[in-house]
Amino acid sequence: MIDEQRRQYLAAMGVDVWIPRHTNTVTGAPVDVSSTAAECQQAGDDLVAEIQSCQRCQLATTRTQVVIGRGSSTARWFIIGEAPGAEEDRLGEPFVGPAGRLLDEMLKSIKLTTDDFYIANMVKCRPPGNRNPSLAEVNACGDFLHRQITLISPSIILVLGRIAAQSMLASTESLARLRGHLHQHPQTGIPLIVTYHPAYLLRSPRDKGKSWQDLCLARQTLAQSLC
Ligand code: SF4
Repeated sequence: MIDEQRRQYLAAMGVDVWIPRHTNTVTGAPVDVSSTAAECQQAGDDLVAEIQSCQRCQLATTRTQVVIGRGSSTARWFIIGEAPGAEEDRLGEPFVGPAGRLLDEMLKSIKLTTDDFYIANMVKCRPPGNRNPSLAEVNACGDFLHRQITLISPSIILVLGRIAAQSMLASTESLARLRGHLHQHPQTGIPLIVTYHPAYLLRSPRDKGKSWQDLCLARQTLAQSLC
């Protein structure tokens, strides 16, 4: 029953597969899988229900639907974008359309499969007219993203674009300065790499080479963390 409920939660969150962890990833000690699974399921149920009914900011009044995320529950890569666009708002999935297809190609280029990553946006509702989300909207939605990261427990975080990068790192530096370096996710300490948003790369393909370098840095960082 718990497995079925967990699958329902993960389906709502856009996740394909759930594999419970039987050891504490920090201490290596055995854990009580049944209680951990129940806690995860409850946390997931709570999260999806809260996001779907959320009215915390003004974007709730203009959205078609919330866009929670898509990918694998066992993902080592957590990819963070800025906010849903018109297509995402219509379809309820992040990174669909031309930018999403380019992102998928970028991830394939470093040999990631759909089992390897989970994608979510900083804010779960579309800002009207594709404007940037305000600081108040990012702050209002931040708890949801943090709880998604905690549930997925990735080994590396890839942040796409200036707005998301500056928000995640609480920085005013340009994307040119933030990319190409190893950062840490402030709340969890998970290694974090910044790169260009695929929508920008569609407009400025000359920077695809730098984005490739960032992806390689992220892949190298992950490999070293697993040694
Ligand atoms: S953007 Fe986030 S905080 Fe604002 S209404 Fe949507 S889910 Fe709630």
